[in-house]
Amino acid sequence: MLTVKAYAAPSATEPLVPATIERRDVGPSDVLIAIRYAGICHSDIHTVRGDWGPITYPQVVGHEIVGEVVEVGSSVTKHAVGDRVGVGCMVNSCRECENCLAGMENYCLKGNTQTYAAVDRDGTITQGGYSTHVVVDEDFVLSVPEAIPYDAVAPLLCAGITTYSPLAHWKAGPGTRVAVVGLGGLGHMAVKIAAAMGAEVTVLSRTLDKHDDAIAFGAADHYATADEATFATLANRFDLIVNTVSAPLPLDRYLRLLRLDGTMVNVGAPPEPMPLHVFTLFGNRRSFAGSSIGSIAETQEMLDFCAAHGIAPETELIDAAQINDAYERVLSSDVRYRFVIDTATL
Ligand SMILES: [Zn+2]
Ligand SMILES: [Zn+2]
Repeated sequence: MLTVKAYAAPSATEPLVPATIERRDVGPSDVLIAIRYAGICHSDIHTVRGDWGPITYPQVVGHEIVGEVVEVGSSVTKHAVGDRVGVGCMVNSCRECENCLAGMENYCLKGNTQTYAAVDRDGTITQGGYSTHVVVDEDFVLSVPEAIPYDAVAPLLCAGITTYSPLAHWKAGPGTRVAVVGLGGLGHMAVKIAAAMGAEVTVLSRTLDKHDDAIAFGAADHYATADEATFATLANRFDLIVNTVSAPLPLDRYLRLLRLDGTMVNVGAPPEPMPLHVFTLFGNRRSFAGSSIGSIAETQEMLDFCAAHGIAPETELIDAAQINDAYERVLSSDVRYRFVIDTATL
């Protein structure tokens, strides 16, 4: 066992505090990673505060992890000591269900093993990336291209793949019109990636406060959803709507913005049900869908795509001591656009 420094939640109601945690010994197929940077995802906050159900404390979160390989197990072939690598939202899966065998382990029928607050295959609770080191099976470790700035790359491991996967699946590209709802951690990556894919991108957000950013990230247009006229102006317009908002939206109004065979896909996760009228789907043969992160192969494809197109998340680098303040700022949408923790300060 390796005892390492971390920042942990002691309970659902207390601030995160410095802590030490145990990492398992490096097994034959494991990689030991010295973590350099860890992104702060909204999911981290929901998890430690018990919003998504009870968890075991103390709990270390963080599933946007980048660092260097410092040790490899005897059978490891994909990664070598010194490699720049990343870990995202999952660290294992059953590897034998239909979806795993199809290379879609993010949709493992037995549930993939989440990077934190999940029961690992050895029965321990997984601990995430607000930590100096992590041990992960080589099959769930990504190669991180050095072309992407080291201190900015971490959010691609969750926000990047979560938006890349639906854009790739529904074929955003030249000649397609894509709307991105919400311009936060997920939304700003969706805009950059969709624009790089060649799609015509429109940002839909409540106000036009972030208009200059939306255009700088590659959007052609930006409309305020607080303005009633927006929904009439944009009716029957989009091939794909990527909804990154985690609060319930009036779905019918958004679905009516889809043209023939258009799809609205949710990557935001509102806790409440959202009603919709099936008649809205009849018009233009519209679809409403969901999408959950991406497979390991697709995550590698996304990292290579971002390196090739010079895409990186917009980040604010913080020390570990600022994590609790950063949580409050995430909750009040006061971040442009993702916090990244310098783990040297743990
Ligand atoms: Zn996340
Ligand atoms: Zn499986």
